[in-house]
Amino acid sequence: MDQSKLVTITTIILFSWMAFIIAWERISPYRKGLPFFRDGFWVDLVWYTIIQSYFLKILIFDFIIAPIQHHVDVTGLQWFKNWTITEQVLFFLFTHDLYIYLFHRLQHANKLLWRTHEAHHSGKEVDFLAGSRSHIVEIIINQTIEFAPIVILSPNPEIIVPIKALLDAMFGMFIHANVNVRFGKLKYFLNSPELHLWHHANYREVFHANFATKFSMWDYLFGTVYFPENKPGDLRDNWGLYYDYPKDYFLQHAFSVKRFDEQKLLRYRWFNWYYNLRPRLLEWMIGQWKNLSKSASKKKSTREPAVKELEPEENYISCD
Ligand SMILES: [Zn+2]
Ligand SMILES: [Zn+2]
Repeated sequence: MDQSKLVTITTIILFSWMAFIIAWERISPYRKGLPFFRDGFWVDLVWYTIIQSYFLKILIFDFIIAPIQHHVDVTGLQWFKNWTITEQVLFFLFTHDLYIYLFHRLQHANKLLWRTHEAHHSGKEVDFLAGSRSHIVEIIINQTIEFAPIVILSPNPEIIVPIKALLDAMFGMFIHANVNVRFGKLKYFLNSPELHLWHHANYREVFHANFATKFSMWDYLFGTVYFPENKPGDLRDNWGLYYDYPKDYFLQHAFSVKRFDEQKLLRYRWFNWYYNLRPRLLEWMIGQWKNLSKSASKKKSTREPAVKELEPEENYISCD
């Protein structure tokens, strides 16, 4: 199968999966009353999911992995020569997932690495899109380590990469989805929202627990699982970080380099201008939308007298 056809198929599967998860969130929510357009929805969708992913894909594949591949000669290595596509996908899935578990655990333990991960925990309303919020550095490290071995070692990277990327996106959406799901015995092996949503809760007990991404067995094997009977609760304070965190994409990245108090910075005119740019833009867009709907209803009302003109005649007829 050629790559463009495979990418079309994986894209269709991904959008269908997203529609399924969105419907599931509405039908059976884990946390009731969570709005679809929740706090940070547009930052996650526009900045993290669309713009950041687009540029990081180019950076990681064309400017990091391609030069590595150019300098590393693996023609002598034929490890995966006789492996089927399924065997290769499973191999890269398991090995990368173990790496992600260990690195994620390190990110929670090390102060410097935490700066590359706190963004992921900053949302107080977790849903299917919340998993996309990941710091640039975190994505560069994790995706280079994930895809470089596939591109360099696999005889079929053009097939393995899209399949692996699809599975990442599907699992990412699923474990963050605000859905009520009970995995029973399967929870010892596969990760699910009932385990990962606790990882996003603002409780000391989970600051160092439930690190798994796809296979929860790592948490069970290494003794880092936290799975009580109750849920974290519906209050905003039950979720996300215990400290204030910026809402803006660029300020979130700046905050990982240097801590600052947004309220104090508002004294500076340039910061004030930038800080209010997004709400002003949003206000302007809402204004435009209102104007559009007003002019549409005006057009409709100018047509109305034509109907009203009939009324006297109708009355006259009825009086008769
Ligand atoms: Zn984490
Ligand atoms: Zn998460």
